[in-house]
Amino acid sequence: MNRLAALDHRYVWHPFTQMKDWLKREPIVIVEGQGAVLRDVQGREYLDANSSIWTNLHGHNHPRINNAIQRQLKKIAHSSALGLANERASLLAEKLVSAANHREARRAGEPKLGPPSAPYFEKVFFSDDGSTAMEVALKLAYEYARRSGRSKHPKFLSLEGAYHGDTVGAVALGHIDLFHKAYSGLLFKTDKAAAPYCYRCRYNQAKPERADAREYRKCNWECLDKLGQKFSKQKKNCNSYAAFVVEPLIQGAAGMIPQPTGWLKRAGEIARGHGALLIADEVMTGFGRTGNAPGLFACQHEGVQPDFMALAKGLTGGYLPMAATLTTQQIFDAFLGEYHEFKTFFHGHSYTGNQLGAAAALASLEILQSAASIRSRTSLQKTMQGELKGLWDLPNVGDIRQVGLIAGIELVKDWRTREPFDLRDRAGIRVCEVMAKRGVLTRPIGNVVVLMPPYCTTDEQVKQMVAALGEAIETLKR
Ligand code: PMP
Repeated sequence: MNRLAALDHRYVWHPFTQMKDWLKREPIVIVEGQGAVLRDVQGREYLDANSSIWTNLHGHNHPRINNAIQRQLKKIAHSSALGLANERASLLAEKLVSAANHREARRAGEPKLGPPSAPYFEKVFFSDDGSTAMEVALKLAYEYARRSGRSKHPKFLSLEGAYHGDTVGAVALGHIDLFHKAYSGLLFKTDKAAAPYCYRCRYNQAKPERADAREYRKCNWECLDKLGQKFSKQKKNCNSYAAFVVEPLIQGAAGMIPQPTGWLKRAGEIARGHGALLIADEVMTGFGRTGNAPGLFACQHEGVQPDFMALAKGLTGGYLPMAATLTTQQIFDAFLGEYHEFKTFFHGHSYTGNQLGAAAALASLEILQSAASIRSRTSLQKTMQGELKGLWDLPNVGDIRQVGLIAGIELVKDWRTREPFDLRDRAGIRVCEVMAKRGVLTRPIGNVVVLMPPYCTTDEQVKQMVAALGEAIETLKR
């Protein structure tokens, strides 16, 4: 075994990994990357088909991001945001606010306490990763609900299958039993609302077809009725929800579950109609992942302006751990007061506002907003769409769902019945293992294989990714 692989086996405990299985085989040890290609210690090349767990945007070793970090490194790597401002974080906060506001959103008039009817981002709270970005939103919404008199014991509503991170508050917002149930004793209770999982929706009367289930579903939007009922019921209990938490357009770790067009807008209206704040978790969906127009964020596709937006993963182009929670003047004002009133938001991390991360993020935003990047994302999305069509010929493919540059391919025993593989069959894992042998790296979510290429991926590389996936799915029959 390679020396580095042996060191890994000896010392490293990997996330979301059954280490007993891990220790059975020599791990791939990555030493370099270029564009969409990762290179291991043996010199073997792989396509990074999930953008290094959904983080990388423009490819590895991107000259502009490299330069931005190198330039910053000559000045300073990090100084504390506790008591000090810094150049890069200030510049980045301005850019994030201007990119994330919906173009029709307007700055509110005189801010006052109460549920904001037309939120507008004005403030950025930096942290380290997706989980902390969500913790910040959660704590701010909780405290805002108490201070504004909306609720003494604020409660939260999130979606079935929700995943918002692994810190304890974020886990409490989650509803994936496999990940979260073990920790229930540590968590506060949150409610869950029906997710619009068209392929397996109990209200969808349509028989399976060889198309994305959103296109042929037969339903009357019962999921939205149920959502409305959740809010009404909670109101009757005299404890209205403080906030509705949602991944806009597509739920990632739930299994790449996309929302049919119009769902997000309606769901947002229902939440707001009941006076709840809206927390958009754009940790996965942000920065152009869900397609181009009309902006870089999933909420903008449906003209939804949330009260909080959590950003991480792609924020630095996939280079450095950094996150941001965007919010409104109204929320900010609820934490203003004289020192002795102790209204301060008592929360913060050591690396908050890190200069290297912010320098990478600024360079990444510039690339994202360039005409060349917009063109190549549009073209990549089309190429993916075209290539994925070929997979409908495979009987073990139940659903192919693509939103922008995210695709989830749900594997089933037989597409006609939608019968799922037992998780113990490890169908998703087996498919990804075969893909790795064919030089394509990705990770499954249960029976769903994820394709989420970096934006620099060439047509030829997309073809290679989908071909490897198709060949791997074929092996399930054996
Ligand atoms: N929210 C969403 C939607 C995510 O997909 C993830 C990570 N997969 C997180 C939050 C947590 O992010 P992190 O792993 O950076 O803490």
